[in-house]
Amino acid sequence: MAVSRSVLITGGNRGIGLAVARAMAAAGDRVAITHRSDAPPPGLFGVRCDVTDAGQVDRAFTEVEAEHGPVEVLVANAGIAADRLVAVMSEAEFATVLDTNLTGAFRVARRAVPPMVENRGGRIILVSSVSGMLGATGQANYSASKAGLIGFGRSLARELAPRNITVNVVTPGLIDTDMSAAIPEARRAAMVRAIPLGRTGTVEEVARAVLFVAGPDAGCLTGAVIPIDGGLGMGH
Ligand code: NDP
Repeated sequence: MAVSRSVLITGGNRGIGLAVARAMAAAGDRVAITHRSDAPPPGLFGVRCDVTDAGQVDRAFTEVEAEHGPVEVLVANAGIAADRLVAVMSEAEFATVLDTNLTGAFRVARRAVPPMVENRGGRIILVSSVSGMLGATGQANYSASKAGLIGFGRSLARELAPRNITVNVVTPGLIDTDMSAAIPEARRAAMVRAIPLGRTGTVEEVARAVLFVAGPDAGCLTGAVIPIDGGLGMGH
């Protein structure tokens, strides 16, 4: 892989994805992000893409390839939550979260792989969650999607290891973003009390872990599940 790599981060217009994008751009990579409604953040190359639509995924990759060359590092970060207790959760609420978080990652990884195979190398990083291992009340859809990413990622890691492509999964705990801001304060306080380090994580801390996994020092790392959770998921 080149020193300055062509990187694509889905959902890179805000939150964790934006922090990863900024960290990788600062490290010298040629960074592209996907965005849906908003304009891309200044200084980053943005491509419009909804990961629930395979046609949009294909067009986004084609645009990135034209601008930066074939994607060498893919960070599948786009995700949503739609929390509700299972007893009252609609099938659409379950399916939409799976379609975005899990099938969305499948769509982007599938599109990323053939050029990586051709280039004899690549890095795929999937953004899962500690909820995928611990489960969470009201998050059966979200936790199922995030647990699914671990099985998907490890299968892909086995498929692609002979091609010098690594696939790893990061599992953030509670990180300060728009997504976690939606959690009611009492529940959030209880969650923080359960974190051994006693605090939430920052988007920059997640970004630094992703940077390591995407970087040259992680050449022997594949199929790993890497927690950035203050110890919340310890032992799982
Ligand atoms: P945000 O809600 O801040 O950002 C989510 C990002 O995903 C946005 O860029 C959003 O785009 C994008 N996105 C959502 N749906 C789609 C879609 N269908 N197609 C393309 N892009 C989409 O969340 P976070 O930054 O907190 O989360 C990023 C990832 O980290 C998610 O996968 C999340 O599950 C995971 N995570 C977050 C944790 C936390 O505590 N914050 C903990 C563990 C994991 P748009 O702006 O257009 O909506």
